[in-house]
Parts: sequence; structure tokens; C-alpha cells
Amino acid sequence: MWQDSDLILQLLDSRQLASDHYPRTCPVCQHTSAHVYFHRFTNKRRGSGWAWCSDCGCYSHVSCSIPEWWKNLPLIDIGLLSASPEYLEGMKESIDHHFNALL
Ligand SMILES: [Zn+2]
Repeated sequence: MWQDSDLILQLLDSRQLASDHYPRTCPVCQHTSAHVYFHRFTNKRRGSGWAWCSDCGCYSHVSCSIPEWWKNLPLIDIGLLSASPEYLEGMKESIDHHFNALL
């Protein structure tokens, strides 16, 4: 069901990250079902970023710089993270809530 999409990458644009409420509008299907999650690893500046849409299944996973204000969600089990957002999809309510609380 998951489909790699460059278009959904625009959700990771740092200028827009903090200007919206989650879930966000999916740039592919226009439904309000797009989510973003970052995970900061030991190096404080770099980490992984995911953007995905629960509705159309588009996603993208990149290695990127992580916003300074970002905090990992403690519930996330690093061992279950992979390029595909399958695991994150199951946590989407917690992730959206966490993201909105950081904004
Ligand atoms: Zn979509």
C-alpha cells in the first residue's frame, strides 16, 4: 500500500513545519491525513524524517537535519523504525498529538 513519493517531501520543508496543525493536508490527495515524524539519533543535528499520508499511502523517508525544537516521541521503539511508515502509521494519533504539542 505504501508508495514512495517526492511530492509529499514538501511536508518536511522547515519553513512550513511549524506553521500548521497535524494531521496536515496531503499534497498528493488533498485529504487532511498527512503526518510527519522525525527521529533524532545521537548526532543532534541529523536524523531521519518521514512524511506519509494515511489516505493515499504516499510516503517519503529521508536523512535530514532535525529542527532544534524537535523532541523524539518517547513511545517510539527505534528498533521498529524502517523506511516504510508502517509502524509510524500505527502510532499516528500519538505522533500528531506530540507534534501539535511541540508547536
Ligand atoms: Zn494523500
